Amino acid sequence: MLIYKEFTFDSAHYLPYVPEGHKCKNMHGHTYRLRIWIEGTPHPEFGWVMDFAVLKDIVKPVVNQLDHKCMNEVPGLSNPTCELIAVWIWDQLKPQLPAMARIELHETPTSGVIYEGK
Ligand SMILES: [Zn+2]
Repeated sequence: MLIYKEFTFDSAHYLPYVPEGHKCKNMHGHTYRLRIWIEGTPHPEFGWVMDFAVLKDIVKPVVNQLDHKCMNEVPGLSNPTCELIAVWIWDQLKPQLPAMARIELHETPTSGVIYEGK
């Protein structure tokens, strides 16, 4: 079974390696939507895969490193494409969330990535 919890954060970024004239070379912002998926079976007594409150407590400090920040200034995110932000988030969380199976990061309502560690 898969459970998920969703988070949103607002961040600024620019993409330093896109060609001159590309609009993403200019500093701009997005409201990102992040969905963290945990795989497991319901606990025999509690009936949950994981306490959503515990999941929130683990993810929130990572989200707070990005929220209302210029992501280019965050260590490890000098080129903050949606893809590389997802990998960065995964790498921050995986040691604390070994059952994490998938993350989704939506940069706009119509654009995003799914990352499963590969
Ligand atoms: Zn952007």
